[in-house]
Amino acid sequence: MNNNDIHKAAETLRAAVPLMIKNQTPTTPQNYALWYTYIAETQPKLNNQLDKIIADHGLCLPSHNEALYQTYITGKTESDIRELKRSLEVLVNEIQLSIRDTLADTVSFEQSIKTNFASLTKIDLKTIAFDDLLLLVQELVSKSKKVKNSTSYFNQQMKTASTEIAHLKEELKRVENDAQYDSLSGLFNRGTFDKHLSTFCSSKQPLALSLILLDIDNFKNLNDVYGHVFGDMVIKAIAKRLQAGCRGEFTAYRYGGEEFALLLPNTSLKVAKQFAEAIRQSIEKISVKNKRSGEQIEHISASFGVAQFTESESPISLIDSADKQLYKAKRSGKNRVMAICS
Ligand code: GH3
Ligand code: MG
Ligand code: MG
Repeated sequence: MNNNDIHKAAETLRAAVPLMIKNQTPTTPQNYALWYTYIAETQPKLNNQLDKIIADHGLCLPSHNEALYQTYITGKTESDIRELKRSLEVLVNEIQLSIRDTLADTVSFEQSIKTNFASLTKIDLKTIAFDDLLLLVQELVSKSKKVKNSTSYFNQQMKTASTEIAHLKEELKRVENDAQYDSLSGLFNRGTFDKHLSTFCSSKQPLALSLILLDIDNFKNLNDVYGHVFGDMVIKAIAKRLQAGCRGEFTAYRYGGEEFALLLPNTSLKVAKQFAEAIRQSIEKISVKNKRSGEQIEHISASFGVAQFTESESPISLIDSADKQLYKAKRSGKNRVMAICS
């Protein structure tokens, strides 16, 4: 039997399966043998009879299969068995190649291929029952079909799942990102401030962390006179100044309504105070257009409280210290910087 013959035999075996399914033929060893012989066209009488049955009945009933098997197949020769065995080997090889890249069930399927191959090699052609050989074919074909179905389904599932996971990851990233920021000012929000501050305060390295709290002066009045939308624009304008002023590790946060915070790691109180003063002056220069009247509104200001983290301090006491200074700045006439111990 040369290579072409082997491939032809494998083709024959493969072509038999869909025909059997089409004719609702149960995949028993006998039926495999019957339909293999039909495709191989080695017994013209069988083909004539089978064609007639299908033409008359639309399909091949179990009783027909049984009768045809008894008449045409039971007397199969040894060479027929050898041919079938070789075609089976080709099939097994092809199935093995086709499932190499698939993900699911392959381990158990490959195991069954190995087992079946092992029994194939042990086959003594003189003693093997044709039915036994076909039983192996049946097992392999049904398992390969199962693997094919489950792997394509599994692959589809994997594809869908991984797309979904990618979307979810993006969504999560977006939500996590959004959760850090304040939507109006674009600055980090209060939650992020709390996190950053507690990280700084719990760090073991000696730290010269300074905190600046600032609160817009007479903001209620600005809202009342020019409207809430205008107030929002002032918040945005101040946030922009803070952001522009922050270099290196300096970070700006929207602490609350019209209050902001600045964390200045590795910065002494003196430098922090100077920085606050520079920010105060930059806020004084802000000019926001009142869209209702078209006029430019100036004289916007804020008051500042500055404190420095000491080892005995907790995040809360640091905030409290800065807040006390801010209150002092308000009490002393607003638009000024007050720092602890200054
Ligand atoms: P002070 O100089 O003492 O700080 O007085 P103030 O008017 O700035 O302070 P007050 O606490 O009396 O009023 C703050 C106002 O800020 C009240 C509130 O309606 C307004 N506000 C808080 N958040 C926002 C916001 O997001 N947008 C706008 N437009 N107004 C806000
Ligand atoms: Mg306030
Ligand atoms: Mg205020």
